Amino acid sequence: MMKSLILILSISSALAGVSSSTVSSGKADLFNANISFVDFNATQEEKVLKAIEIIKKVVRSSEFKEKVIQFTYKGQRRFINNNGFSNDEIYQILLEGSEELSPGIDYEMDLELELYFSRRSTVGYTYPDELKVWMNTKYFNAYNAAQVAGNIFHEWTHKLGFEHSYRYSKMREASVPYALGYLIEELGKKYL
Ligand SMILES: [Zn+2]
Repeated sequence: MMKSLILILSISSALAGVSSSTVSSGKADLFNANISFVDFNATQEEKVLKAIEIIKKVVRSSEFKEKVIQFTYKGQRRFINNNGFSNDEIYQILLEGSEELSPGIDYEMDLELELYFSRRSTVGYTYPDELKVWMNTKYFNAYNAAQVAGNIFHEWTHKLGFEHSYRYSKMREASVPYALGYLIEELGKKYL
């Protein structure tokens, strides 16, 4: 009895080791972006271009892959609001870049960005039926490129179909949009 138990444990730990290394990152270095701008001046456009470079470097890195695949919430390897996908599947979905409104695996982030000003505390927003993302200049102008990168990536995950609750909670921080937005910002700082 004891022997078979040990055998089972060794198989499952072997599988656990395989599961993360078999997630393909072969396409990660293809990851690209196709962004269009509305109402940006030259300085603002430059900041977004820098943010996009940061996103590409981070998404292509093995560090990003590991952080996505190993992400945990309350001791379990999962995101909140994960649409039923495992961490491994979410990593693949990010690489494939198939937006709900622009379907097809193109390994590319397709987005339209528009600036607006509001005194409110909303950093940015989007609608499910538009590829466009609106970013509040109140924050955008004060943010560095890594923060903008995190914000853009957060909004982009909405285009991939991921949602989160409107009210702040510790749990919301582990949603796909929030957790990945923060991750891009955190890993992106070294490229500033
Ligand atoms: Zn959001």
